[in-house]
Amino acid sequence: MLTTREMKVAVIGGGIGGLAAALSLLRAGMDVEIFEQGAAFTEAGAGIQIGPNASRILHRIVPAPVLTARAVRPAAVHQRRWDDGRTLQLAPLGEAVEAAFGAPYYHFHRGDLLQALAAAFPAERVHLRHRLAAIRDLGDRVEAEFENGAVIAADALVGADGIHSTARRLLFGPEKPHFTGCIAYRGLVPAARLAPLGLEVISNNWMGPGQHFVHYFVAGGDLVNFVAVIERDSWTRESWTDRGEKADVLEAYAGWHPQVRTIIDAVDETFIWALFDRAPLSRWSVGRATLLGDACHAMLPFMAQGAGQAIEDGATLAACLQRLGPGAVPEALRLYEQLRLPRATRLQELSRLNKLRFHLPDGPAQQRRDAELAVRGDRSIEAIAWLYAHDAAAIDAG
Ligand SMILES: Cc1cc2nc3c(=O)[nH]c(=O)nc-3n(C[C@H](O)[C@H](O)[C@H](O)COP(=O)(O)OP(=O)(O)OC[C@H]3O[C@@H](n4cnc5c(N)ncnc54)[C@H](O)[C@@H]3O)c2cc1C
Repeated sequence: MLTTREMKVAVIGGGIGGLAAALSLLRAGMDVEIFEQGAAFTEAGAGIQIGPNASRILHRIVPAPVLTARAVRPAAVHQRRWDDGRTLQLAPLGEAVEAAFGAPYYHFHRGDLLQALAAAFPAERVHLRHRLAAIRDLGDRVEAEFENGAVIAADALVGADGIHSTARRLLFGPEKPHFTGCIAYRGLVPAARLAPLGLEVISNNWMGPGQHFVHYFVAGGDLVNFVAVIERDSWTRESWTDRGEKADVLEAYAGWHPQVRTIIDAVDETFIWALFDRAPLSRWSVGRATLLGDACHAMLPFMAQGAGQAIEDGATLAACLQRLGPGAVPEALRLYEQLRLPRATRLQELSRLNKLRFHLPDGPAQQRRDAELAVRGDRSIEAIAWLYAHDAAAIDAG
């Protein structure tokens, strides 16, 4: 009889989801290794928001000084109208959220978060330049073959290889990600340049017809990250690293509040992201292999939860494997999927709905949205408790 310590888990992909899962699995006593196609762990030069539902897990798997060295704690989230800047909703984050949910709300530079995760994971368990090519379920174990010719065996395989997941294709067949009709320009501005604006350390979301604009501090407050989301009919490339023209962003935001335009104008370079998501899957697992993060539930970023859900996935997966043990890996993967799939699907759907809500043209529907936000905002402590109070490792809690 194997003990949990001898259970071998192969994680394919070393993004935020794969690294966080590997750390949760390691903490649960498993023999875990990461296989990443790149020559190093890399993330885009951009920000990421991490809610308490994910930060409570990060605090278990990364030492606090490493995790928080460059993290920013926003005091509030401010939803505003695109032209006159009128407040639609101002909801607390900061100490109020930490007191309510027992974990903080963070803003990170993606590179800082990825490096913090990588620093907490033993380097000898990382295999770079390993691009997954084939999965073979042999009943008593699962094998993975890589493009470099290497073949490994494990008790369980986790495909955490992102929106263009090879693991997903191998398990469930080919299917193209869906272009959501939105593109995002992203930029990082040195905070010192924006000092005259007197920006508060909060999360800002400006809503307007057909587009919205998000900005917040990252990198210990040294940089202001912005994401400018615009609706577009078509998109041909799927790269995260295409450069954009600042003039195009300024033109798209003509007539918007001066604060928005000043932030755009202060950036040195912008990059374009085409935003893709996927229809929810009905299953994530086949035998001894399963999926995690964007590989199985890629979503629009309009709930700021894609990485958060990936981090939750890893915690639930580790708890299920630990609970059922090495003699019942396929059952553990099915339990993981049953626990995670409804919640991730709900967030995929809410993210799509927010595309409509954020982008309403001025008129009766927009006025109804604004009235609702004023009375019963979607980001108040009470309204967001279902999302932030969740502990993904507590699989007995139901
Ligand atoms: C504009 C924008 C803003 C966002 N903002 C937020 C936010 O504020 N908060 C939030 O929680 N989420 C946010 N997200 C979503 C978040 O970025 C993703 O959900 C998250 O990064 C997914 O992580 P992942 O590890 O699943 O996938 P990825 O980060 O894509 O990692 C996949 C890894 O697998 C590797 N890989 C791929 N194929 C193979 C292979 N065949 N073999 C081996 N390795 C392979 C890749 O090299 C990569 O390292 C945002 C997304 C966008 C586009």
